[in-house]
Amino acid sequence: MKFSEDICGQEFDEGTLAVTILKYEAQLLGPPAISEADIYINQANKIEIYDGSLKIFPEAILDFRRIVLHELGHVIGLEHESDTPAIMMPSIGNLDRLQEDDIKAVENLYGGKDNCEIKTLKFGTTKNSLSPPDCTVMQLTVGSDDDSHLDIYSFSLDKLTELEFNLKSNELETVLLVADEDLNYLAADTDVTNDCNASLNTELASGNYFFIVNTWNIQMKPACDITGTYELIAGYSAFEATNLGGNISLKGGISNAIFTGGITATDGQKFGNLFKSTDSVDISATISIDSYHQGRPGFIVVAAVIDEQILLLDENGNFIDTKTRPGIIFPAIRKTLESEEEVEIIKNLVAAELGINEITVDFVVGYGLDDDPDEIFYHETPLNLTIR
Ligand SMILES: [Zn+2]
Repeated sequence: MKFSEDICGQEFDEGTLAVTILKYEAQLLGPPAISEADIYINQANKIEIYDGSLKIFPEAILDFRRIVLHELGHVIGLEHESDTPAIMMPSIGNLDRLQEDDIKAVENLYGGKDNCEIKTLKFGTTKNSLSPPDCTVMQLTVGSDDDSHLDIYSFSLDKLTELEFNLKSNELETVLLVADEDLNYLAADTDVTNDCNASLNTELASGNYFFIVNTWNIQMKPACDITGTYELIAGYSAFEATNLGGNISLKGGISNAIFTGGITATDGQKFGNLFKSTDSVDISATISIDSYHQGRPGFIVVAAVIDEQILLLDENGNFIDTKTRPGIIFPAIRKTLESEEEVEIIKNLVAAELGINEITVDFVVGYGLDDDPDEIFYHETPLNLTIR
């Protein structure tokens, strides 16, 4: 922002108090983004700072606040409002503060995320579709005329992580994008050659992100439509085991337990969720037990969820279908709980040796106390294993 006698050599128009010049940059989705804004304030005018009616007689003394509020409105993308009282009216007047209309305009311009249902990304396999009434690019990024549908998923990383996304469809021309939480697009696959599928590998630091499944607003080739079903396989890989999210419990009790888990085919050099059926896989978890529960007799539970089926690990190291023992939660280990419990879930699993070529299993570990065996403390994010 500059008090100036001209705008880079160009005279101010008669009666112009200030001018904001915007520079735009094209984005992957939605309208171009403002990448730079410069405000030139006409220094020929007498300017003070005051509230209330504009001082016109005996001489015009302008109010700095309302000039700058108006120009900052332009900086963040607001246009003029002629019909409703607003700081963004084209001419200066007696309004000295932001008006309801100004605030609504900003909320509308920047509130696109509120127009769309945001799901939590599940690592592993997700089946979904793009079709009405899914959100559109227009709804997510206000000011665009792109009416293609999108699904938006959020995810968080607590360390540098390699990510792999594979989107398959026989019907839908798939586009995928990764964005930060302010919807700055970080990576994308918009390729329309070959099949309808899309894939993306990227590495992201810790933070909160969005994964967006999108398509085109016009059909790009006969084989791939702009609505239809898709299957997403989301993979991650990192040098440490993963935090398994916030802790929850069966009966709603509170604990400070921390759950981490990892699946490795390289003896702990790398952890991830996508493996081949010939890989030899070790699956383990660590529970940092709530200090109030340490030293007390308790038990550890290990569950494996395959589609609708829930298996529990028994004390002999076998996974048992809970349908065969309805209503009973049986432990994998009974012991006096220590501060850190290492749980070895499976060692040297080679799926191909069991005749399995493809499977998705979500593992959950938990613990409880003998004096309250129906209460189990566990974690929100399952530990996903995807063999493909
Ligand atoms: Zn203006």
